[in-house]
Amino acid sequence: MSTPNGTRNDGADLAEEAAATKIVYDLAPRCTIDDIETGKRYHASVNGVVEYGIFVDLSESISGLVHSSNLVGRYDVGDELIVELLEIHEDGDLGFAEVQMAEYDTVRVAPGERITTEEASAFTGEVVHLDGQVVQVKQTSGPTIFQVRTETGVVPCAAFEDAGVRAFPGVEIDDIVRVVGVPEPRRDYTQIEVQNLSVLTGDSAQEVLGRLRDGEAAVAEPEAVEPLVEWPAFEKLSDDLEAVARRLRETVLEGRPIRMRHHADGDGLCASVPLQYALEQFIARTWEDPDAPRHLLRRLPSKAPFYELEDVTRDMNYALEDRKRHGQKLPLVLMLDNGSTEEDTPAYRNLAHYDIPVLVVDHHHPDPEAVEELVEMHVNPYLHGEDYRITTGMMCVEIARMIHPDITSEIRHVPAVAGLADRSEGEAMNDYLALALEEGYDERRLVEIGEALDYATYWLRYNDGKELINDLLAVNCDDRERHERLVDLFAARAKRDVEIQLDAAMQHVTHEALDNGAHLYRIDVENHARRFTYPAPGKTTGKIHDRKVEETGDPVITIGYGPDFAVLRSDGVRLDIPEMVTELKAEVPGGGVSGGGHLVVGSIKFVSGMREEVIDALVEKMADAEIDEEIGTSAVLPEEE
Ligand code: MN
Repeated sequence: MSTPNGTRNDGADLAEEAAATKIVYDLAPRCTIDDIETGKRYHASVNGVVEYGIFVDLSESISGLVHSSNLVGRYDVGDELIVELLEIHEDGDLGFAEVQMAEYDTVRVAPGERITTEEASAFTGEVVHLDGQVVQVKQTSGPTIFQVRTETGVVPCAAFEDAGVRAFPGVEIDDIVRVVGVPEPRRDYTQIEVQNLSVLTGDSAQEVLGRLRDGEAAVAEPEAVEPLVEWPAFEKLSDDLEAVARRLRETVLEGRPIRMRHHADGDGLCASVPLQYALEQFIARTWEDPDAPRHLLRRLPSKAPFYELEDVTRDMNYALEDRKRHGQKLPLVLMLDNGSTEEDTPAYRNLAHYDIPVLVVDHHHPDPEAVEELVEMHVNPYLHGEDYRITTGMMCVEIARMIHPDITSEIRHVPAVAGLADRSEGEAMNDYLALALEEGYDERRLVEIGEALDYATYWLRYNDGKELINDLLAVNCDDRERHERLVDLFAARAKRDVEIQLDAAMQHVTHEALDNGAHLYRIDVENHARRFTYPAPGKTTGKIHDRKVEETGDPVITIGYGPDFAVLRSDGVRLDIPEMVTELKAEVPGGGVSGGGHLVVGSIKFVSGMREEVIDALVEKMADAEIDEEIGTSAVLPEEE
């Protein structure tokens, strides 16, 4: 009895062996001697009868002798029988023996032409085979689409059982398979029309896995690019950035979707947009399916300066739905300009229940001990004795170039936008500004681009607004004039809305002189600023702060508070906000204090009934802080909704 092909041969070794002895191979006409092995059994047809035996054909080019001593029955030309290959003589002659089997499984063997994803389009219309790993199984209303990874990339293989019926139900994600089929040209890609799909086990599977590993190592290797600027501080991070680039390239090849979670501000966009662009190009290069970039990559803005439970719950929900509905693997989460702090760990603990790796590229003051055990990679300048001046946008532009260097000219102005948006005073800022100037952007314009981005992402809320954001940042944007007009419009609106906000709020700012000589300004952003409009409380506080710094020229601290939160900005005062939060937790019992951010810029949450106690304790600490000789060591606040 013959069973359908494509059934799984897994289970114990014994069962595998028993199954293997039942296999009879049916060679396709173009198979060659490379496709056969001694000890294996084959379907053969008689092409000649002689005194000492019969000659049999296994394919167009494979023929040999069954000596009469190895022959059981009597045959005429054209008869079919099953033979075992006994030996391949030195001169290439083949010796067979007849085998009589009551029960067997037929496995069709493809011709010698084994192709990779890359070669598929060169073999359209021909029967070929490819060996690889199933990375996605999607049931359409027509065929079942198996996305199969070979050593060079991923190719869609369409198998049809019946409309909407799962073909080869025994084949699952991660299986090592041999696909026999015909590459067919589609509109702008090649798809394999499957004739047979069989799961490989044992040595043949190991061999394929070995080839996939070698292929992946080669294809995933980041491109060797020189950093855009020479900057010793930045060089310390280059191994880390390269490791992230490699991991992302591997992730694409392995068919694991990537969910980018980025802080919804200027730097977060400068980090995520170039990476999104580079990864899309890399996916298009390694996946035949033109829809793959859309399915494998999502960019998701996060309002909070940490990974909120709301965000992670959505992420998990989407991941599980995509797995069920689209036969996708669970994703990798890539945290950008976010993700380094203890506040992120509850979210990470949720993901830890599933196979969802996390990579972090951030420049906020980190809590490495809390984060490290929960994430696979943690890149942060503070871990190398550097600080926020290396912005996430600067780091990610280099990662993007290691993934797809061809986009360099389109993204080389981005680090300057990121640096200005986050007020980086890194020594490389002048070099970054010079690069942007070569692309036609002066410093004033770069600031406006940052403001326009900030304004757009505020109103986009949870939407990535891909096309609009690309146009505003002039990345993957085909119309520079439209970019200019949009930046004009959005930057002007941002400016206008800030004016409107400050017109009201400035009247309600209170002042006191701290013991250390710094000015302290307070503003109740809940009651004295417009709510649910741009700029949000964090930015409103920041703008008030900037005005006061300019007005006084002295050390300034500004607190903007709501019922259960406060945002902090300081210039000329040596604050350590993460440290202050830790102390407040202990000193104000029942305050429910949490928060963090950069050293001199951050946010604190507390329970509303304890606001006075928390803010009083906070102000006391600020009054004790040392004054800086130099004023102007500020960074942009991670804003809160
Ligand atoms: Mn940032």
